[in-house]
Amino acid sequence: MLLARGAPAPPCKTRETRRRAAKPQRAIWNSARWQKLRTLVLARDGYRCVDCGRHGSQLRANERLLADHLDGVLVTPFELDLYVTRCSTCSGRRDGGRRARPLG
Ligand SMILES: [Zn+2]
Repeated sequence: MLLARGAPAPPCKTRETRRRAAKPQRAIWNSARWQKLRTLVLARDGYRCVDCGRHGSQLRANERLLADHLDGVLVTPFELDLYVTRCSTCSGRRDGGRRARPLG
């Protein structure tokens, strides 16, 4: 597709674009504070997905347990009460392909 000079580029949805958009969240996910909170959430919920009830040991190789934000948005990253344990499959189903948003 040819674009006229000066015309805005069409929205790019490449993997790299999505990776860059998720960068603020990745900085949180890599922090010791987040790792501690995640461990507390999973332990509180007994290492079971709150939706399907499967234990971490019952997940398939490509699944894992996540500390999933109730609102689906990472605006208050360290509030224990705002998270529940979900497997990656249930979390993805709930999100419906939600995009990462930068922190406000
Ligand atoms: Zn599940």
